[in-house]
Amino acid sequence: MNLKDINKEILECRKCPLEKTRNHVIVGEGPEDAPIMIIGEAPGRDEDFQGRPFVGKSGQLLDKILDACGFNRKEHVYISNILKCRPPGNRTPKPEEITVCKPWLMKQLELIDPKIIILLGATALKTLVGEEQRITRVRGEWLNWSGRPTMPVFHPSALLRNPELKRPTWEDYKKIVFKYRELVDSSHYSAHV
Ligand code: SF4
Repeated sequence: MNLKDINKEILECRKCPLEKTRNHVIVGEGPEDAPIMIIGEAPGRDEDFQGRPFVGKSGQLLDKILDACGFNRKEHVYISNILKCRPPGNRTPKPEEITVCKPWLMKQLELIDPKIIILLGATALKTLVGEEQRITRVRGEWLNWSGRPTMPVFHPSALLRNPELKRPTWEDYKKIVFKYRELVDSSHYSAHV
């Protein structure tokens, strides 16, 4: 199976009640062999409406940060979420929803096989690394997920709510650029790092 096959299956998924309230299933976006995989929490209103991940205000901020790093969705990053359908009212995903949807993400991770993983916010961190993890404590530290360097960072929506988080978050992304140069492309260009 390749990523296209899996994503086709995800598009038809009806394994949890979110299938009744969604407008779109948002599988993810990026190259099939992306060296970086970014994992967020769940689609929001704009994403559910447009059928693409991270297209609202949070997504626009994320794109700006990626651009400053010299990364983009066409060449460097595959962006997906823990849940592929929007929880109504953008509420936090329920544990049972995560349990049912997580295998899709695991298959995507297996097929994309990224060199570096970025976890956006607490839900992604807890789901992949462990319930006991706290984003405020471990953000900016390299963790290990299945042998891959994994960087938890604040979710861009947290940066929009609290702009004071932008400066420390930029330091975290600089570490990701350094790691990318170490593991993927030593001549990677960023105008700011
Ligand atoms: S959230 Fe996940 S498990 Fe639930 S219907 Fe959507 S794709 Fe399926």
